[in-house]
Amino acid sequence: MSRVPEMFGCMVFNDTVMRDKLPNDVYKALKKSVERGNRLDIDIANAVANAMKDWAIEKGATHFTHWFQPMTGITAEKHDSFIEPTDDGGVIMQFSGKSLIRGEPDASSLPSGGLRATFEARGYTAWDPTSYAFIKEKTLCIPTAFCSYSGEVLDKKTPLLRSMDVIGKQAMRILKLFGKDVKRVLTTVGAEQEYFLIDKKLYEKRSDLKLCGRTLFGAKSPKGQELEDHYFGNIKTRVKSFMDDLDEELWKLGIAAKTEHNEVAPGQHELAPIYTTTNIGCDHNQLTMEIMKKVAERHDLACLLHEKPFEGVNGSGKHNNWSLSTDTGFNLFEPGNSPEDNMQFLIFLCAVLKAVDEYADLLRVSVASAGNDHRLGGNEAPPAIISIFLGDELTDILESIEKGTTYFKKSVGNIHVGAPVIPHIPRDTSDRNRTSPFAFTGNKFEFRMLGSSASISCTNIILNTVVAEELSLFATRLEKAEDFENEIHNIIADTYKNHKKIIYNGDGYSSEWTKKAEERGLLNLRNTADALPLFKAQKNIDLFKKHNIYTKAEVESRCEVLTDNYIKVLTIESNTMLDMVKRDILPACVAYSNELAVAALNKKSLCSDISVEYETRLTAEISQLCECLYNNQLKLEKDLMDAKRITNLGECAKFFAQTVLETMNSVRQAADALETVVSSKHWPYPTYRQLMFDI
Ligand code: ADP
Ligand code: MG
Repeated sequence: MSRVPEMFGCMVFNDTVMRDKLPNDVYKALKKSVERGNRLDIDIANAVANAMKDWAIEKGATHFTHWFQPMTGITAEKHDSFIEPTDDGGVIMQFSGKSLIRGEPDASSLPSGGLRATFEARGYTAWDPTSYAFIKEKTLCIPTAFCSYSGEVLDKKTPLLRSMDVIGKQAMRILKLFGKDVKRVLTTVGAEQEYFLIDKKLYEKRSDLKLCGRTLFGAKSPKGQELEDHYFGNIKTRVKSFMDDLDEELWKLGIAAKTEHNEVAPGQHELAPIYTTTNIGCDHNQLTMEIMKKVAERHDLACLLHEKPFEGVNGSGKHNNWSLSTDTGFNLFEPGNSPEDNMQFLIFLCAVLKAVDEYADLLRVSVASAGNDHRLGGNEAPPAIISIFLGDELTDILESIEKGTTYFKKSVGNIHVGAPVIPHIPRDTSDRNRTSPFAFTGNKFEFRMLGSSASISCTNIILNTVVAEELSLFATRLEKAEDFENEIHNIIADTYKNHKKIIYNGDGYSSEWTKKAEERGLLNLRNTADALPLFKAQKNIDLFKKHNIYTKAEVESRCEVLTDNYIKVLTIESNTMLDMVKRDILPACVAYSNELAVAALNKKSLCSDISVEYETRLTAEISQLCECLYNNQLKLEKDLMDAKRITNLGECAKFFAQTVLETMNSVRQAADALETVVSSKHWPYPTYRQLMFDI
């Protein structure tokens, strides 16, 4: 594949292309404005737009769009063609600086959480020159921020850019105190994406998958993931050809897809990109999810991004690997060979420790969704309790600083495999801990609670802001300190003493941890309905206001959008369930039991001595289960009526979490029991075995 380097980024208007296509002065002005965050001159914008258009047309584009990320969690686009009429009745291809910089989509149907009444439909998109424009399906896509007429933020990109700016500035304050001369500090992110692939024809037969993204019914397959033979297993030919195609599409867009492997559950896979700056990392993850679905279609597959497509096997998550790096590429979470002497590293580490402890509620909110509720705490993903894994070495270092004792480095040495032909390999300073929600993994943090379908923006907005807050407090202390060294020592000791309760290096999936965490006073927000109200806690509103990320109204609107979404998702799932039960499952059961009864009667009329024990018992069992299913169906219908009467959104969400979900479970149980006794000829849907293994 020698052509990969040429292919990589060929659909991106990146720095190389800009240098090539833009007049030198325009290129320089654009660069300067990106680096300093200055506003662009309209003449420069016109020149950039023109070059972009010519480049895009050369690559086959006919349209352009402002590509933005409203609060729906997915991306939005409205395509305009480049054509402009001419006097002689023809057209020319045109793209102005004005169209590049600003768009005005009629955005009244996108969620605003009460920030904007429907009659105030104006929404604006504004070019984000820090993320490159790209071509997707003959359309030049321009990454943009999205706000309302009166300037309220309506998207996920604007607060993300703000949070990156804030953490960059606060990190610079700290670095300055350590005598470091750097121009900028950026956050970096690499999002590992899990997904399922199933056969498209089977997918088409299940309205639960089509409408809800997950199966609402399905008896356990005789084989699931118990043999542990799928993880890192041989990749099936069909899947491999999907992955090859996917890599190619992503590479063209400059997305550095790096690792692809099978995950734990049958049919489950993962893709990890090489990390990049957070803003671009978020855009890339959105594109990756979109392109996964499209490429799957080409291979007659369906790509499932839901957090829990199948009960009984692992669901899918997304690991948000996060770090801070200087413009010179130095990673601020690189501990070096002797972290015990690396005070700068320890200060940054302590900022994260304190931030995660004080704002555990916000981090939990950032991953809250109806889909993710199925995973967290289910022995396949971290629990809903936030804690940090630091490993023994760093924990010991912090402990010794708190106690004022000398730290003795433990020698880790090499691993000796015992077979002389295999070279000795150096041992890492600590083992991995796969059960921790927030793990320090050598030179970065890995936040593992995100759901697979989520936008990573929310998490990164919050992570950046909470760490920025702690860095700002530390910087203020250090700037005022008379004895700098001593104050560093005090900050580390204070932080460890007050926040060590958030450190947990043990098994996060165990029930002992749940108990211990409760004793330590850590939050355990089991579901979305419990978590979301904390978004609006006064301390959190104060934090967002202080750093100019969100106003109070913007926090409230976001909270409303999330709560509303939770209720809507569960309502759609309930209605889909009811539809499937009433129109497919119960009729199939009745048809089958009728067939059994007729068979029994026929046998009897043939010869009265013939035993019809089997037919009779099975018919009775099916009838009993049908009755149970029917009663649960009625209960679910009643629950939904009751929910409609609850006017308070938060209360309504709680009702769904506590009551509706339980009824949905009962409906499912009865239907799944029926699936195991009704003939496969009558059962209306492909089974778990087919969905997970027939590919
Ligand atoms: P592992 O999960 O086995 O530790 P890697 O170390 O390769 O694997 O990293 C997993 C993910 O973390 C990749 O997407 C990678 O790009 C990302 N990553 C690595 N270093 C950083 C960093 N400094 N900042 C953000 N993400 C990073
Ligand atoms: Mg990982």
